[in-house]
Amino acid sequence: MIKLRACRNCKNVTEEVKCEKCGGDTVMEWKGYLFVLDTDRSLIGKKARITTPGEYAIKVR
Ligand SMILES: [Zn+2]
Repeated sequence: MIKLRACRNCKNVTEEVKCEKCGGDTVMEWKGYLFVLDTDRSLIGKKARITTPGEYAIKVR
């Protein structure tokens, strides 16, 4: 199983040590998985202040 990481900065979920979206550090300690397809319609996405579609973590330590 691939261990996914999450960016501390933008909450992007990735396999990389450095986030490919913002270049920030990613960590393995994160909780909650959020998949945002439509940022305009997604209430959860708005709450999490997500502006671009993609995979995100809800909580990153
Ligand atoms: Zn990032």
